[in-house]
Amino acid sequence: MPHSPRIAIAGLGTESSTFSLGRTDAEAFHPYRGEGVYDFYDFFEEGGPVRSRAEWLPTMVGKAISGPRVAAEAYRELSAELLERLAALGPIDALYLDLHGAMSVEGMDDAEGDLITRIRAVIGRRPLVSASMDLHGNVSPVLAHASDLITCYRMAPHEDAMLTKRRAVTKLLDRLESQRGRPLKAWIPVPVLLPGEKTSTRVEPARSLYARVPEVEARPGVVDAAIWIGYAWADEPRCHAVVMVTGDDAGVVGSSAEELARAFWSVRDEFDFVGPTASFEEALDRATAEGAAAPFFLSDSGDNPTAGGSGDTTWALHRILAHERARERRVIYASIPDPGAIEEACRVGLGGRFHRAVGALVDDTHAGPVQLDGIVTALREGDRLAGDEAVVAVGSVSVVLTRHRKPYHLERDFTQLGLDPRGSDIVVVKIGYLEPQLHDMAADWILALTPGGVDQDLVRLGHRRIRRPMHPYDAFPTDPDLRVRWIPAADLPLPEGLA
Ligand SMILES: [Zn+2]
Repeated sequence: MPHSPRIAIAGLGTESSTFSLGRTDAEAFHPYRGEGVYDFYDFFEEGGPVRSRAEWLPTMVGKAISGPRVAAEAYRELSAELLERLAALGPIDALYLDLHGAMSVEGMDDAEGDLITRIRAVIGRRPLVSASMDLHGNVSPVLAHASDLITCYRMAPHEDAMLTKRRAVTKLLDRLESQRGRPLKAWIPVPVLLPGEKTSTRVEPARSLYARVPEVEARPGVVDAAIWIGYAWADEPRCHAVVMVTGDDAGVVGSSAEELARAFWSVRDEFDFVGPTASFEEALDRATAEGAAAPFFLSDSGDNPTAGGSGDTTWALHRILAHERARERRVIYASIPDPGAIEEACRVGLGGRFHRAVGALVDDTHAGPVQLDGIVTALREGDRLAGDEAVVAVGSVSVVLTRHRKPYHLERDFTQLGLDPRGSDIVVVKIGYLEPQLHDMAADWILALTPGGVDQDLVRLGHRRIRRPMHPYDAFPTDPDLRVRWIPAADLPLPEGLA
């Protein structure tokens, strides 16, 4: 390339459950803009090896924590700004596009497909586009078509998130410098839909499956390889697993993609929760049984806000307060977002009597607000995520209330509210797998299969619009078609059958 390539940076990402009530607004994306975009990455440092290889044109990167569907107006606003910023750059050679891939927008089935199509309308068909994604994202043929290089994380939990973004950027640079043009793209839909809690790459079968990805990537003629688990809590036709391999040698690219797809399919029945699961009633019975270990942690997994739950489902709390033995134990319940309840706790003050029905403001599908009659034992202002927090003790059950949704993943999250999780009998957290600090504290643990926007019991959720047949919803009398679908380059049309 005679001149330093002009490469734009843009991104928009979140993970949205279409089974959660409520809407995600534009503010939730906290966009980095202009030069500020560099702060989001650890490899764009000034004078560093990546910065020096191109003329970088950062536009806007917005990321929201998981939640309910993105409001149509919010998406319009965010995408319009992103497109305006790209249009203002004039001609570019390439774009690095930072996506999650499971953003659901009101009235749309393939938000990332829409976004990249509109981006192409602005930047044209010529620039190379390299996209990086979460492995819980979805890759529609439209998204695969409009991008040239596309990849995703290879680890869950996502310890390689920044490495993946860096790989997407450096492979784009390599491609531009080699002047090899657009790589071939092999795309294979795998008719499997699994919850993240069954697909940790720390354990089998995902560990061995994902170990094959870098092996494929290292083959001559291959540029990159990726396996998407897909996102289980959106009811959209694009939600299923996908394998993609990109490269220049059609024989190797195609056979490698088919090899990965067959490997995935062959272990489909082996994915399981890595840890004990039970219904909430059974979990409560076991946690309160004679001689139960303490603290006994219970995951209220169906309403996990970091997976996309609304966070204010009261179903489990109703059951704790109605459970004779649980009511007598030292229990912590974290948490219920309810701004009105926070106002009330502040009004009655520390040590004051609290009488109010709380929660289920957003999601009352499974249970209505829960009546709390107790004492305010903690008030805390200005938390980065929760805004304000309060603890109401109903007898020996301490309920954490917040202004906004907040995950309780650290010991400090509890102790700064005067709570003592280590000295408690039962700690209930809206979470799937326990985060490391909670895991270390837990004497015992059950992932309770509670209802909510991110119910781990997928079949119970009642998807209607995903492709069928789909494992594990349907039986497969014969194996699915796992042959390569070749996705045309972005400057050629996408055949009807694929779109
Ligand atoms: Zn993920």
